[in-house]
Amino acid sequence: MVSALGTSALMYSCKSDNKQGAQSSESNFEVECDRFADLQVLRYQITGFDELTAQQKELAYYLYEAANCGRDMIYDQKYKHNLTIRRTLEAIFNSYTGEKSGDEWSKFETYAKRVWFSNGVHHHYSNLKFVPECSTTYFESLVKGSDATQLPLDGKTVDVFLAEVKPIIFDPKIGAKSVDLASGIDNVKASANNFYEGVTQAEVESYYASKMKKDDTQPISWGLNSKMVKENGVLAEKVWKSGGMYGPAIDKIVFWLKKAVNVAENDNQKKALSLLVEFYKTGDLKKWDEYNIAWVADVDSRIDVVNGFIEVYGDAIGKRASYESVVSMKDMEATKRIAAIAKEAQWFEDHAPIMAEHKKKEVKGITAKVITVIQEAGDAAPSTPIGINLPNANWIRQQHGSKSVSLGNIVHSYNIVAAKSPMLKEFAENEGQIKRAQEFGALAGDLHTDMHEVIGHASGQINKGVGDPDQTLKNYASTLEEARADLVALYYVLDPKLVEMGIMPSLDCGKAEYDSYIMNGLITQLTRLNIGENLEEAHMRNRQLNAKWAYEMGKKDNVIEFLQRDGKTYVKVNDYEKLRVLFGELLKEIQRVKSEGDYKAATALVEGYGVKVDQELLKEVKERFTKLNVAPYKGFIQPRLVPVMEGEKITDVKVEYPTNFTENMLRLGKEYSTLPNKN
Ligand code: ZN
Repeated sequence: MVSALGTSALMYSCKSDNKQGAQSSESNFEVECDRFADLQVLRYQITGFDELTAQQKELAYYLYEAANCGRDMIYDQKYKHNLTIRRTLEAIFNSYTGEKSGDEWSKFETYAKRVWFSNGVHHHYSNLKFVPECSTTYFESLVKGSDATQLPLDGKTVDVFLAEVKPIIFDPKIGAKSVDLASGIDNVKASANNFYEGVTQAEVESYYASKMKKDDTQPISWGLNSKMVKENGVLAEKVWKSGGMYGPAIDKIVFWLKKAVNVAENDNQKKALSLLVEFYKTGDLKKWDEYNIAWVADVDSRIDVVNGFIEVYGDAIGKRASYESVVSMKDMEATKRIAAIAKEAQWFEDHAPIMAEHKKKEVKGITAKVITVIQEAGDAAPSTPIGINLPNANWIRQQHGSKSVSLGNIVHSYNIVAAKSPMLKEFAENEGQIKRAQEFGALAGDLHTDMHEVIGHASGQINKGVGDPDQTLKNYASTLEEARADLVALYYVLDPKLVEMGIMPSLDCGKAEYDSYIMNGLITQLTRLNIGENLEEAHMRNRQLNAKWAYEMGKKDNVIEFLQRDGKTYVKVNDYEKLRVLFGELLKEIQRVKSEGDYKAATALVEGYGVKVDQELLKEVKERFTKLNVAPYKGFIQPRLVPVMEGEKITDVKVEYPTNFTENMLRLGKEYSTLPNKN
C-alpha cells in the first residue's frame, strides 16, 4: 500500500523540517524543472550516495537497471494502445523534420509530456482519458513528416496506421476511463486497462471464488500477475513471466537481478533477490509469497528494492497489480523517528479505540525506516508515493510482519516547493492556522505518514472465516484500508504519548495536522477535480470520507464549522479533542467493517461520505485555485546512474541529475524499450 501526497503537503514550509540536515548543504540544487497542464515536474537528490561502499553502489546500479527495464509494462498494463501511442510521440520528437515550434506544436508537446507523466493516455490520478489540444490534421502532418522506420507501424502503411491510431488518440470516448469504480456497473468491462479482455466482472469473480478456500491461512494472491482473457469460450490467465506475456521485459529484469544477487549485502538479501528471480522466471505466485517473506526478513541491508507487480489500485476489482520499482538506501539519521514509533507498535495497538477482538494480540515485526530514493520506475514514476508499506498480502503481514518506509528525499523536495506555495494563505481560515502550519506542518506531515504506514496499515486483525477482506470488500477495499490507516495516524497525532516519546514538540503539532487534514479532505483536495466530477481515487475518497463523516457526526457540537467570507468558503476545527474522539469512533467502525468483511456497511460509508462532491463548492475552489497558478500534481525526473568501468568490472557509480523532462523521457524510451507494441 502507498501513501500519496495530499494537497496538504503542498502547504508546508520546511522550517521545522529538521531531519534533513545533510541536504541543506546542497541547497543550490534546483528542484523545480517543468510545468505543464495540471502538472509540475521536480527533481530529487540522492543525498548520501557517496557514503555507500563500492559494492553497495554496484548493487544499486543493477537494481536501477532492473527497475527501468520494466518501464514498458506499466504502459501496456494501463491501456493496450499506450506503447503504440508513446512510440508514435517519440518518433515525432526524434525525427520530425518540420518546424518544432508555434501554438500547435506546443499543444502537441504538452500532450506528449502528459502521456509520459501518466505512463499513458489516462490521467494518472483521475483515470480519465485526456486528448491532444492540437488538431488532428496537424498531428497527421507530424506523423507524415517523421521517419517512417521509427514509427510503430507493425507492417502497416502510414495511412492505414493513421486511420487506426487517430481515433484512439483523439476520441475521448474510446477507452474513456482506465479504472472505473462506479457502483452498479460492470467495473471490469467499463475499465479501459489491459488487465482483462472479453470477460465480465461476474465471470472473473466466480473464477477466483472457486479457487479460494475458506479458512486458508496462507491464501494466494490470485490474479496478481496475469491478464485474464477468454479463449474459445474459456477463461484463461496470460501470466507475466519469462516466456509468457511481458517475457522480453521480464527477462531483462532477471538479467540485472541476477547480477544484483552476486553483490548482495548479506544472505537475507541474497535469498530475497534469488526468490524474486525465481518468481519472474516461473510466474508462480507461491514463489511470490516466499519472496515477500524473505524480503520482510531482510532488515539489515542499506540498499533495498521494491520490484514486482505490487499495487492493485489500477484494477477496478483489486486483483491485478501494476509493475513498479523503487530502489533506495536507508537514511540512517531520519530513521530514528520512525523507528521510535515502530518500537511502540504494541502500545499503540493496545490503546487503539477499536474493539478488543479486532486488536492484534501480538504486533509482529514492523520494520520502519526513512529511505533515500535512488530510482523509481513503473507505476512509481514520474508520480510517486511518499510512503510505502509492503507486502500487501494480509496473511504475510500478520504472520511475518511488514516493512514500512517513508520516502525522505522526495518529501524534502516537496517541502522546498511548498515553502513557496500560496495555497495556505488562500485556504486557511485564520492566522493561527497559518502560523501553526508554518511551524509544525512539515513535521506533522512526516508523523502522519510514519504512523499511517507503521501503526496504521499494520494494525487490526481479521475475524476467522472472513478470508481475505480485500476480496470481500471489492471496489471499496482500497478506500477503507487507506481510511483506516489515516485514522490510526489522526487518532494518535493528538496523543500526549508522542510528546512523551520525544518525537513531537507539543500537541500544537497534532492540531496543525487536524487543521490540514480537515481543510484538505473538505476543501483543498477538490482542486484536483474537474467541474462535474466526483471522487474516484482511493486516497482522495478516504480523505473526504474521514473528514466529512467527522463533520456530519460532530455537527450538533459544532466540532467542525464551515464559514463564508467575501464569497469564499473556509473550514475550521472548533474542538480538537472531540474531533479526536470522532476519528476514534470511525476507526472502530471501519476496523469492524474490515474485520467482518461487511460489504453493505462499506458501501454505505464510502458512497455516503467519500464519493459525492458539492459542485458549487468545487466551482468556487477551482476558481480560487486557478488564480494561484499552482500545479495540483507533481512528479519527478529520475537521476541517472552511470557506472565507472575498469575492463569488465564496475569500480564506482556516478549520479547524474537530468534537467530536461522531454529529453529524459526520450532517453528512457530509447534505452528501455523492452516490449513489442502489442502484447
Ligand atoms: Zn496507505
